[in-house]
Amino acid sequence: MKQQYIVDINPSTGKIIKKIKCTSKSGVHEAVLKARKALPYWCNLSLKERSKMLANAAKEFKKEKENIGRIITDEMGKLYRSAVGEVHAVKYGIMKTIEMAKDALPVEKYREDGLITEVLRAPIGVCAVITPWNFPVSMPETLLSPALIAGNTVVFKPSENVPLTGKALYNIFNKHLPEGVINLVQGADEVGNELIHSDVDMIAFVGSQKVGKIIMNAASDKLKRIVLELGGKDPMIVLDDANLEKAANFAVNGALRNTGQVCVSVERIYVHEKIAGEFIDMVNEGVKKFTYGDGYDENAMMGPMVSKEQRKIVVDQINDAVRNGANLITGGKIPANEVGFYMQPTLLTNLSHKHKIMNIETFGPVVCIQIVKNDEEAIKLANDTPYGLGATVWTGNKKRGREIAGKIEAGMIGINQGIGSVSGTPWVGIKQSGFGFIGSVEGIRQFTVPRKISYKTNHVKKSK
Ligand code: ADP
Repeated sequence: MKQQYIVDINPSTGKIIKKIKCTSKSGVHEAVLKARKALPYWCNLSLKERSKMLANAAKEFKKEKENIGRIITDEMGKLYRSAVGEVHAVKYGIMKTIEMAKDALPVEKYREDGLITEVLRAPIGVCAVITPWNFPVSMPETLLSPALIAGNTVVFKPSENVPLTGKALYNIFNKHLPEGVINLVQGADEVGNELIHSDVDMIAFVGSQKVGKIIMNAASDKLKRIVLELGGKDPMIVLDDANLEKAANFAVNGALRNTGQVCVSVERIYVHEKIAGEFIDMVNEGVKKFTYGDGYDENAMMGPMVSKEQRKIVVDQINDAVRNGANLITGGKIPANEVGFYMQPTLLTNLSHKHKIMNIETFGPVVCIQIVKNDEEAIKLANDTPYGLGATVWTGNKKRGREIAGKIEAGMIGINQGIGSVSGTPWVGIKQSGFGFIGSVEGIRQFTVPRKISYKTNHVKKSK
């Protein structure tokens, strides 16, 4: 491998936390081999036995939430309170998966004319789990728990931006699982690339569309199964009868929380021309009040961006929009005299789909507003994207909201709220946002393959 070390940088200070050795090529293949050796033992345990071990890991996440929370804040800049909340949620994620597995995994028996067919949910085998940095414990958990509960063994590669968080997550699972059931490899694209071309049977991935497409190609060599969650360009439609205070509040928080580094961030807002002026003023007030600072600063509403490179992508998109006629109302700059990778909360208006920022994922603290004439134009623009992850509609009319929601091409749509949904329902993207589900009974079953065993009721005759 060309890259020998990950240089782990604290985005609040720009200082190096640690240099972490990347897994070598042979190390990647050894990890896969270890996972394969552990497979027969792990998949032959009962669901109850696997559940017990995973439940023990869940308890430990609760105990360790402050320690891991600190690692997250140091490595990726997230507010400490959010980081602790995220680790705490991992406990619930694992326990929910254990509960849903009771519906997802039991053998189903079908009977017809004296014939019995058993449908078994067999694990797929060795699963590579490759994840991003923005939710560095909850994102991996949503793939690791269902993969493991279904009887697969795992090789886990966290993002190169959060190697110590990845290691902490691995340590807890590994402590409670048999040797070789979960394995850790560290590194960036080269290590990821080695892993997706290795002897794994499945690849579960959350990250960019670009890498998702590389993975889909790589998977064809052995017809590896894949689960891909590939981000979004979520639209928010604000109609002329919406509660503007609530909508503006959601727009600001939805676009800026976690410094905009969320796959279901509000990336594009389409507001009806009748109320656009008032709405923009309200959003602007919110953006101006959105404080930023070190993740441990209790008054900060967002931390720095994860890296200099990620910030450059955002600044380039803003500059491109302004060069092409967008109005920069607030922010848009890298704060002067600051160490770390901070970025001002930003509001851009007078946008259209000729601007790059309305077409490609931004993943930064920017609120982007385009004015529309009517519902049809809003729907047309909302759907004018290869992505289809989340979307929201804001209106005072239930019927109008439900009708528009039905016409939006997205996996998860909220009416007068975010995409938050009933627990146990799938997290899902359509179009080029993804392939497969996260969470839910279906989400667990996608880590299995149905196998059938059939026999006649009287297939074994007693010998006389
Ligand atoms: P992000 O920048 O949001 O983390 P990426 O898609 O670049 O999104 O990265 C997500 C994960 O995919 C990371 O763990 C990264 O190291 C990994 N990755 C990047 N390139 C490749 C690749 N060619 N093959 C496999 N994994 C990769």
